Amino acid sequence: MRVHLERLAALQVVDLKIQEMEREREEIPQRIASLEEDFKKEEVEVLAQRTELEKLQKERRQKEKDLEEEVDRVKKAEARVFEIKTNKEYQAVLKEIESAKKLNRQREEEILGILERIEEVQKNLSKKEKNLEAKRKEFQKQINELQKKAASFDQEMAGEVRERQEREKKIPSDLLNKYRRLLEKRQGIAIAKVQNGVCQACHMNLRPQLHIELQKQVALILCPNCSRILFWANGLDKAKGT
Ligand SMILES: [Zn+2]
Repeated sequence: MRVHLERLAALQVVDLKIQEMEREREEIPQRIASLEEDFKKEEVEVLAQRTELEKLQKERRQKEKDLEEEVDRVKKAEARVFEIKTNKEYQAVLKEIESAKKLNRQREEEILGILERIEEVQKNLSKKEKNLEAKRKEFQKQINELQKKAASFDQEMAGEVRERQEREKKIPSDLLNKYRRLLEKRQGIAIAKVQNGVCQACHMNLRPQLHIELQKQVALILCPNCSRILFWANGLDKAKGT
């Protein structure tokens, strides 16, 4: 029995290693997804600024065109002023020209305001674009590293799985089945060491009689509390010759 328990204990070590690797391996796609999400957020910000810049430039072009047309109209009105016959009409047209000029000055002010805003957005945007470019490189680097890590993990894990298969071959199938079932039911730990009469998995003290039975190392003994296969940690020397 001792030799089988030794093999099971060694198999448990491999199983724990595989479990740990699987956990770590599963984290990699999550980390990649969260990196992608962060990057996308910044990308969206840059896109929003670009859209705003385009909107401002369009507005500026429209206002400049309007202003040009209005200035033209004023010029034409001024050219016709001398053709006016009555004083009353003359005064009315002059007044009209004056208010049109005033309106145009307001338009110029508005255009200047837009130009200032454009400059501001442009400055901000080019800073953000530069940042994003640096981030893109860093992001790509991290993703590559994670993918590389995932690949080497897969390889290493395949090696461990092969080792598990080799170890399993040397264990009687009924014992192995029991171990597998316990592994599933007991959070990945099926075999528990006993040290100083205490089950190291659930920390229960074994009854003295059971402890003595265990030390004989002839029968399969389960922990009365956690049902795991018990394994006498100090039993190696005593096991010689059995
Ligand atoms: Zn136990």
